[in-house]
Amino acid sequence: MKIKLSEIFFSIQGEGVLIGTPTVFIRLYGCNLRCDWCDSMYAVEGNEYNVRTIGSVMKEAEIYNCDNICITGGEPLLQIEQVVSITERFIDLKKNIILETAGHIEPPNIFNSKNTVISMDCKCPSSKMDSAINLGNLLKLKSKDQIKFIIDTDDDYSFAKEFIKKNNFRAQLIFQPTWGSSIKLLTEKVLNDNLKVRVLPQLHKDIWGDLKGK
Ligand code: SF4
Repeated sequence: MKIKLSEIFFSIQGEGVLIGTPTVFIRLYGCNLRCDWCDSMYAVEGNEYNVRTIGSVMKEAEIYNCDNICITGGEPLLQIEQVVSITERFIDLKKNIILETAGHIEPPNIFNSKNTVISMDCKCPSSKMDSAINLGNLLKLKSKDQIKFIIDTDDDYSFAKEFIKKNNFRAQLIFQPTWGSSIKLLTEKVLNDNLKVRVLPQLHKDIWGDLKGK
């Protein structure tokens, strides 16, 4: 089975509940959304990818001798059979797998397994992709999983605040400012409103800036 691969790299997990954890990132190519503030457009369009076998991707990932694997994109679930196959093999190797997905495609059952985390976006209005929100997919997430709200504007914050009040999500809730917007202001709003969410930065960008492969 062949996979369209944008890049593999070793870094720390910069986002979400596993923030700071050394992780191998497998970035798959292709996405059918176009978020206004997308920071990985090179994995969305431009046809900069390699066609690889799953075996060769796994071999390259194994070089780093790391327990944590992040399957990201682009939208990895556009290559759903490949994602299932590679995840099964990594689970056999006792790896911890995190799947980063935009949320408009239902994750396959393998991500019910205990060594997996689904990190699902809930697209706020400034992304201009909020029509892609699939409430059913968000509600199916478990406490091991996370929902990530990327907050750029006041409208985004109000939307996210109301959305979590209206819905009884089991997944952990992350509020993350877009790169360049104020985490301090976002934190103050969350504290003023006493929201039960985590405010997290993009740690990798604080360390290295907005660099590909980091
Ligand atoms: S879903 Fe993710 S990869 Fe696709 S355009 Fe939006 S931010 Fe970029």
